[in-house]
Amino acid sequence: MTAATPPMIKAAAVNKFFGDLHVLKDINMEVPRGQVVVVLGPSGSGKSTLCRAINRLEPIDSGDIEVDGQPLPAEGKALAALRADVGMVFQQFNLFAHKTILDNVTLGPVKVRKVSGEEARTTAMELLERVGITNQAEKYPAQLSGGQQQRAAIARALAMQPKVMLFDEPTSALDPEMVQEVLDTMTGLAKDGMTMLVVTHEMGFARKAAHRVMFMSDGEIVEDSTPSEFFTAPKSDRAKDFLGKIL
Ligand code: ADP
Ligand code: MG
Repeated sequence: MTAATPPMIKAAAVNKFFGDLHVLKDINMEVPRGQVVVVLGPSGSGKSTLCRAINRLEPIDSGDIEVDGQPLPAEGKALAALRADVGMVFQQFNLFAHKTILDNVTLGPVKVRKVSGEEARTTAMELLERVGITNQAEKYPAQLSGGQQQRAAIARALAMQPKVMLFDEPTSALDPEMVQEVLDTMTGLAKDGMTMLVVTHEMGFARKAAHRVMFMSDGEIVEDSTPSEFFTAPKSDRAKDFLGKIL
């Protein structure tokens, strides 16, 4: 990698309003290639809006966002290509209820990436193995546990061969006993070198898997530091207050 290689995600002076509400306030951040950046912060601080802005599910009012050195396209084929490059996993698994797990995973590659059905199935089975649910391939989402559904959602995102994965509270809707299997899947991805931006309240994951931790509060990135700095010596009162409530 040369010094000129751009970060995978770069946001510069990004502002976003919902009416009078200033939800993203002059956000400057980067996710370097191959790194895991965890976003922490109280509810309503703008974490989901930031994720949605990065794959242009939300337009921004000012500033610039680049993915892999390219400004976000506004529409058309370029936008579809961006969405394919930026895998997204939400709190709600968002699988297609009337399709099998295998079909859920093959649909995007066949439609958007123009991969053959056979090749898509082969890749999908490899991905289902990677997330540990090959034996669920022919089932429908409702027949799986929450943890299995979320792992299927991760496999579905990976099937598009994304350059970066965004996770927005991927374990928040899960029963406690299923949280770890999803975090383990994510840790595996990180170890394989996937670039990831992860919004989570799982502090164990943040400590172990994150290269950097960003703390958001009230639309601002208040801290951007290593996990050990953040957890042992948070600088701001807002971060201290947040950690005091959750640890
Ligand atoms: P977080 O993910 O950190 O909980 P969000 O990004 O979801 O925060 O929300 C940030 C703020 O923007 C909150 O005050 C929320 O109520 C508001 N908000 C989010 N989405 C919308 C929307 N579509 N319309 C109006 N306000 C919104
Ligand atoms: Mg959110």
